[in-house]
Amino acid sequence: MTRPEPFRIKMVEPIRLISREDRQKALVEAGYNPFSLRAEDVFIDLLTDSGTGAMSDNQWAGLMLGDESYAGSKNYYHLVEAVQEVIGYQYVIPTHQGRGAEQVLFPLLLKKGQYALGNMHFDTTTAHIEIPGGRAVNFVTEKAFDTTTPFDFKGNFDVEKMEAFIKEKGIENIGFILITITCNGAGGQPVSMQNIREVSAVGKKYGIRVLIDAARFAENAYFIKKREKGYEQKSVIEIVKEMFSYAEGFTMSAKKDALVNIGGLLGIKEDEELYTQARSMLVPFEGFPTYGGLAGRDMEALARGLREGVDEAYLEYRIDQVEYLGKRLMEGGIPIQTPTGGHAVFVDAKKLLPHIPAHQFPAQVLANELYLEAGVRGVEIGSFLRGRDPETGEQAESPMELLRLTIPRRTYTNNHMDYVAEALIKIKERAHILKGLEFTYEPQILRHFTAKLKPIE
Ligand SMILES: *Cc1c(COP(=O)(O)O)cnc(C)c1O
Repeated sequence: MTRPEPFRIKMVEPIRLISREDRQKALVEAGYNPFSLRAEDVFIDLLTDSGTGAMSDNQWAGLMLGDESYAGSKNYYHLVEAVQEVIGYQYVIPTHQGRGAEQVLFPLLLKKGQYALGNMHFDTTTAHIEIPGGRAVNFVTEKAFDTTTPFDFKGNFDVEKMEAFIKEKGIENIGFILITITCNGAGGQPVSMQNIREVSAVGKKYGIRVLIDAARFAENAYFIKKREKGYEQKSVIEIVKEMFSYAEGFTMSAKKDALVNIGGLLGIKEDEELYTQARSMLVPFEGFPTYGGLAGRDMEALARGLREGVDEAYLEYRIDQVEYLGKRLMEGGIPIQTPTGGHAVFVDAKKLLPHIPAHQFPAQVLANELYLEAGVRGVEIGSFLRGRDPETGEQAESPMELLRLTIPRRTYTNNHMDYVAEALIKIKERAHILKGLEFTYEPQILRHFTAKLKPIE
């Protein structure tokens, strides 16, 4: 049965496909790095799902109800109520986006040299672990790196490996454990409730704080409902509450599952002292604790978005659309991370372009070709993103070379998805003649965003 979108469209934003010649010119100007394209020159933009979704009429209406008082805005109280209702935590601090919450919380929990253990830390998360002198370590299951063998919860921790690490390094050298749901780095892959429970138990056993990086918490809960035994009959809100019950705090980029274009949250379950410390740290970085870098209207949209994000009809549509694009690609013989994850389809460029070595960035080559072919912008998640080893200066080889096609929420239709799939299937025919890339400009830090490249002749 066809499942139609659970919304209708009352406002449209025209998009246009510029000519192939102009795309070629734009890509050369962008230094073969789609990050540097003008968004206007992109037809379908699958760069990220962060802040790129469509708000509902209810959220837009909320914008008009912004209380822009400096302190104690009524929208702040709405936001606190929404978090208490959906997630069940007592203490809520708004931030301008997810990294704002990281920057405030992590220095309070990490001493110099301490490790922050995760399934796979997000890039800004790693940065905010390292800035106060911490060390980020990942323990995602090996199954995540095998794209062709399906496994329901490729975001899971290898709990045994993590526990062995804790014993080896000593409890005093561990700052906290951070569970990223869903696991973006592994392909938007969910973490099972059982795994969350086990990680939490390890935390308890050693007296280590367990936190959640909650950007895609609703998608993770939906996967648990669909894939994990014993959760079929539970509501998504019940599952969300149970997931968070196993942690003591969370940081959240609200630009993902909370359905807003800007915003973030820091939540603390019951540790009042930590809450007080975080509130004082907030002031110099983000702003007064009842607005944290957001306008009153933004907090209202976020409060409403949090509730809409756990609506099951919406989540079903959302996950279906990602799966739809994945199916179309697989039917066309394009290798992807399976099963498809929550927010994106990850094309395995190592398999599609086996003749291009890691240090010539096969997934970046594919991203560029997709833009030339169809005006579609995806993003490389591979060796180009990974960068050089900070000690030796050598190009590190990423375990996976992926092209991420990230789907903004409630924004494109399945016709757009068909078009994207057709373009990649066309590229597959000429994949063997595509050439690797080399740098013409390589900045020292965060090169992914600003580096310039050219094809190797
Ligand atoms: C987006 C994201 C962040 C950072 O949040 P911003 O809102 O972009 O600052 C952190 N962790 C994860 C898992 C994310 O997806």
